Amino acid sequence: MKKKVIVIGAGIGGLAVASLLAKDGFLVTVLEKNETIGGKVNFIEANGYKFDTGASLLTLPQTLNEVFSYCSKQMSDYLQLVQLEPICRYFWSDGTSIDIYQDTEKTKAEVEKLSKTDVVAFEKYLKDAKIKYEIAEKTFLAKSLNELPELFFSPRKYLIDFFKLSSLKTLDKHNRSYFKSAKLIQLFNRFATYNGSSPYKVPATFSLIPYVEFGFGAWYPIGGIYQIPKALANLATELGVKILTKTTVRQIIVENQKAIGIRTDDETIRADLVVSNADGVETYRRLLGIENKFTNREPSCSGFVIMLGVRKKFDQIAHHNIFFSDDYKAEFDSIFKDKLPAKDPTIYVCASSRTDHTQAPENCENLFILVNAPYLTENFNWEEHKKRYRDLIIQKLEGFGFEGLSKAIEFEEIITPADFAEKTFSNKGSIYGISSNGIFSAFLRIPNKCREIKNLYFVGGAAHPGGGIPLVLLSAKMTARLIAKSN
Ligand SMILES: Cc1cc2nc3c(=O)[nH]c(=O)nc-3n(C[C@H](O)[C@H](O)[C@H](O)COP(=O)(O)OP(=O)(O)OC[C@H]3O[C@@H](n4cnc5c(N)ncnc54)[C@H](O)[C@@H]3O)c2cc1C
Repeated sequence: MKKKVIVIGAGIGGLAVASLLAKDGFLVTVLEKNETIGGKVNFIEANGYKFDTGASLLTLPQTLNEVFSYCSKQMSDYLQLVQLEPICRYFWSDGTSIDIYQDTEKTKAEVEKLSKTDVVAFEKYLKDAKIKYEIAEKTFLAKSLNELPELFFSPRKYLIDFFKLSSLKTLDKHNRSYFKSAKLIQLFNRFATYNGSSPYKVPATFSLIPYVEFGFGAWYPIGGIYQIPKALANLATELGVKILTKTTVRQIIVENQKAIGIRTDDETIRADLVVSNADGVETYRRLLGIENKFTNREPSCSGFVIMLGVRKKFDQIAHHNIFFSDDYKAEFDSIFKDKLPAKDPTIYVCASSRTDHTQAPENCENLFILVNAPYLTENFNWEEHKKRYRDLIIQKLEGFGFEGLSKAIEFEEIITPADFAEKTFSNKGSIYGISSNGIFSAFLRIPNKCREIKNLYFVGGAAHPGGGIPLVLLSAKMTARLIAKSN
């Protein structure tokens, strides 16, 4: 008889692991509290404007492809991915701007605009990042935390590789050792935010992230990023997975240190295995009644989002754009030390209608605006201050050349860190799970297989190997493999 698996949450991780397990012969049910699937990858549409409300950039599309091919399906039958060139346009307040491409020669010409002497440093930097990525791909990104010890102490030379990968230096120090241009240091520091961390705290190991973008490109699914969870849900359903929305799990039932099912508001469902795609800290707190598990790990930052439907075109922008602050250190001190929104934030603007005309009415823009924000503490009340912070950001964008922006807005919606916490039950509104702000933080994430409770597993951004769509997909692969191994 097929073993029954309950997956709590229909985020990218929950949907991917459900598909992989169904392919492996398990009987899988996914329970999602919200009306829609997708979790942090979600979607709204109003007045002809379409917005992805969370993730907007897809990297490492091969991680997604692997889920479909494991299930003997062609990803292209579900999703149409297009590659973006330029990957991103960067702006500074002195009027400088550069484009970054996957094509290294083109990027070198842009780097030269900032600093001639940094062109060689840029090449060396990417070479080092590639080596780091290739080591991580074989170790940290290939194995669950439960399996890492056997990998490191295997006769192969992984332990040596691991020491090559790890670093006592911060990312900022690493970047300063390569580049003379303060702008380039800032640009490469920004990659720490890809897992919601501070470049002044994450180890230099994370300099491998730019290689992910430069080496494999930036991608966009036609129709929006929300097409990804939709495609995964279609895949899962075809494989026999039952997905129930508007179903909140209230408790994981544990007997003799073994998960034996779950309880919702209406029923108790028994299962052989339970996989939580809910944030790990919240799984312990809300569903297992254990208050202090993993609470000493610093959450990643959160985000403040403004979605604007604008009756105007801004021809100076690309699909992905960054408008840098003048003092990056002060910005991260504000977010991670003071736990307050930055007074001068770096602003990310996504205009997906550059690539996909269906996303906004003709001659209009669907602007998705995101700034990094502190995870929730009692230091700041978003409900009280969100309007003022929104005004500050729009004013800053007008200063960056978005002339007449506020007057041309015809649709608007804001998402605060408190909304993220409420909507997806994420720990303190963090958007990438646990931060990587520490030398060993990468090894302190929630393991894919629970260490104390048998038959309980974790998948998603708060679990190993981390947040962001590609890592979440890798976590699904690891969790499915661990389950297949022991069942
Ligand atoms: C603003 C923003 C921008 C981002 N930008 C990018 C980007 O550009 N590129 C990128 O790769 N990543 C980005 N990310 C991160 C990426 O979206 C996440 O890492 C990823 O989507 C997390 O997926 P997940 O599987 O961990 O689950 P989540 O998306 O966290 O989903 C978990 C699901 O579980 C459900 N759930 C929780 N508790 C319960 C319960 N008790 N019962 C039932 N259901 C429950 C929740 O409702 C939710 O649907 C961004 C995130 C945000 C918010």
